[in-house]
Amino acid sequence: MTADGIVGEFLALKAETDADLLAMQCGDFYEFFAEDAEFVGDELDLKVSEKSSHGSTYPMAGVPVDDLTPYLKALVERGYRVAVADQYETDDGHAREITRIVTPGTLLETTDPTAQFLAAVVDVDDRYGLALADVTTGEFLVTTTASAAEVEAELHRFDPAEVLPGPTVRDDALLDRGETTAPVIDYDDAAFAPGRAERRLRDHFGAGALDSVGLADRAGVAAAGAVLAYVEETGVGVLDALTRLGTYDTGDHLDLDATTQRNLELTETMHGEREGSLLATVDHTVTSAGGRRLREWLTRPRRDRDVIDRRIDSVAALVEAALARDRVREVLDDAYDLERLAARATSGSADATDLLSIRDTLDVLPALGEAVADSRLEDSPLPAIVDRPNRERAASLRAELDAALAPDPPGTVTEGGLFQRGYDDELDDLIDRYEAAREWLDGLADREKARTGITHLQVDRNKTDGYYIQVGNSETDAVPESYREIKTLKNSKRYTTDELAEREREVLRLEEARGDLEYDLFCELRERVADHTELLQDVGRTLATVDALASLATHAASHDWTRPEVVAPGPLVVEAGRHPVVETTTDFVPNDLHLDTDRGFLLVTGPNMSGKSTYMRQAALITLLAQAGSFVPARAATVGVVDGIYTRVGALDELAGGRSTFMVEMEELSNILHSATEESLVVLDEVGRGTATYDGISIAWATTEYIHNEVGCKCLFATHYHELTTLADHLPRVENVHVAVAGDGGDDGDITFLRTVEDGPTDRSYGVHVADLAGVPDPVVERSRDVLDRLREDRAIEARGAGTSDGTTQAVFDLGSGDFQRTEEDDEEPLDPATESVLAELQETSVAETSPVDLMARVREWQGRLDGEE
Ligand code: ADP
Repeated sequence: MTADGIVGEFLALKAETDADLLAMQCGDFYEFFAEDAEFVGDELDLKVSEKSSHGSTYPMAGVPVDDLTPYLKALVERGYRVAVADQYETDDGHAREITRIVTPGTLLETTDPTAQFLAAVVDVDDRYGLALADVTTGEFLVTTTASAAEVEAELHRFDPAEVLPGPTVRDDALLDRGETTAPVIDYDDAAFAPGRAERRLRDHFGAGALDSVGLADRAGVAAAGAVLAYVEETGVGVLDALTRLGTYDTGDHLDLDATTQRNLELTETMHGEREGSLLATVDHTVTSAGGRRLREWLTRPRRDRDVIDRRIDSVAALVEAALARDRVREVLDDAYDLERLAARATSGSADATDLLSIRDTLDVLPALGEAVADSRLEDSPLPAIVDRPNRERAASLRAELDAALAPDPPGTVTEGGLFQRGYDDELDDLIDRYEAAREWLDGLADREKARTGITHLQVDRNKTDGYYIQVGNSETDAVPESYREIKTLKNSKRYTTDELAEREREVLRLEEARGDLEYDLFCELRERVADHTELLQDVGRTLATVDALASLATHAASHDWTRPEVVAPGPLVVEAGRHPVVETTTDFVPNDLHLDTDRGFLLVTGPNMSGKSTYMRQAALITLLAQAGSFVPARAATVGVVDGIYTRVGALDELAGGRSTFMVEMEELSNILHSATEESLVVLDEVGRGTATYDGISIAWATTEYIHNEVGCKCLFATHYHELTTLADHLPRVENVHVAVAGDGGDDGDITFLRTVEDGPTDRSYGVHVADLAGVPDPVVERSRDVLDRLREDRAIEARGAGTSDGTTQAVFDLGSGDFQRTEEDDEEPLDPATESVLAELQETSVAETSPVDLMARVREWQGRLDGEE
């Protein structure tokens, strides 16, 4: 079916773009047709009607031109890309063309306070380039690496809103494993070509920019160039917001692979909720920019001591100075999101209220300066942080905005009313004349009443009639000749006069001139603000940084956290440590931890649910918090800086991408064993659990040896393979610790979790106990205990026949050979335990190694036992 007319034009434009949806301007509306209409009807609850066009009917849904933005935002935030075709006048009527494509990574009007990164990933000469641009704040970061795992980790960490993979990485599993849920766009191959990308970067950032930020790697250049090209092509006017190109080295940051970020529940829980994550727990920021900064710190802790120390020094000062801290947070509470406002000014979408928000936020800077001048903060890094942006320029921009803008400007920028008197002479003159004309109009009714004696007379204005004089029907006979009737209503008539018409034209002319002039003046002002983008970003970053520091201090003070002693490199020694999240919801039992060069590998044993995972995550989180620059939940802590934290925690039951859980477990293990260095911290929870016992034990055993002998890093390894605990006797750096329980878990099965961690292995495993707790039927629990005892004593399990309530043994599974053996007593009465034990001892007795006297004594004892004596 081909369509003509308006729908045909819509479909033709739609075919031109790879956007998911098209909104096409038709006069005062943007319309969606055909499938797109049905789609937006469903998604946004828009009314869908039928449009007839050349004999066919099509679904149609539309929104008024001025209301498009919220609808676009709603669609884009759901992950769709929407093309917008605008209508423009031509000599013979009008035409339409696509002017912009609004996409998740280029949406400036987002209401989501978290960073909105547009990411490009390419692979050139065996290196990956990753570029990340947040058009809402102007942040633009580029990095290169040879490791795919690092790209995955970065994607997970930045959690982009939209991803552009280069031509050679499109089919890579990389994007899946980075677990981005963002739309992945196959963008123009040519944009990724390094030569073209480089030219584009030089055009945009200036010829010297690449050298000054040290971006030499072709992969990084290709990724950054593609991001720029895409932002330009979508045409939403945000290109200019990208003012600063920055490179970063993944080596400055703690290595946290995607799995570890997830396992440690940094920004969301395993169930995907923000509540219960580390970030949600420690986030007391009062601004959205501060929240973004804190998220960045927690997901990208540092390796370099000076940055870590500076942050901890600031936090420490703010912890001590409670009043000054409250004051700092109170002052920051008045700040708006300056980085985002700056981007709106640059892209030309800021209105007068936005500029006023900029003015008010610039005011926060000196107030913050006063707040940190407090004597208890004086010696901390805070005064220097607040002093970093150019305060004089900030003050003069603030003064300029203050002198320019009316205190309560309207929401549009085209209708005047934006500026204060005294800002511009020409504008003042226009306003004077306009007000004089208005005054004449305002006084007209009274003057006419007095002149004509008519009492029911009023002067008003509406859209169709313009200004008019309205006279009640009872007095229309008295109207002067100069009145020209323009409309008859039920109870009155409307008139105009030559003079009124003349004044009306003047008012309209002045109104229009005022609107135009104010619009021009506003654009100039906005451009001058945009010229200060870097200053505004500086101030925005400073406020965000102080907010994040104050947030960490607030949490530390209210939860009795302590200042970690950060050493590089060094041990991890924690006294009375707690888990930062679990401690907020339970009565937490604090634990000690000691990992150093002589004792670098702890095998953690204890019953299920006793607290092994919590203990190990706590160690990882205390390290991570310290390297983020925070206080830590402990009485005292010494934290040796690590280069990476790698975890493999808990066997998740779901299948990941068709791979078995065990396969995923082994991939994670493989990644850890490849990536970890002597300076890393590795946390392993139950490696090898997903396979048969013998395989599992073997893998766990070999992993322990490898980490101990080859990697040499700090490691915590929880295992239910009790057998592993003997490794501590043979490997010098391996030590056992266990989570203590009270009660023996024996026949009555009762144990109490004490949650304290003590040296030495647990004396037994408690799986059967947990089965009991979980309500597994009694016969099964009891039989499990029997089997367990036999396994411990004889390394064999006998299989029992069905229906043999007396427990007739049918076969024995021998752990040594891994085979079933038919028992000789298959059809006979079972032996009593005394006979059985005598036979066993008889079999084990070595005649050659036993003296005749001993042999005689033994035989006598056996005989006695067989006769039923004790
Ligand atoms: P495991 O890894 O041994 O199976 P978990 O670490 O998952 O055990 O802990 C089991 C439960 O005990 C969790 O609900 C946790 O919140 C709680 N828990 C763990 N450690 C402590 C502690 N030190 N104090 C209080 N509760 C704890």
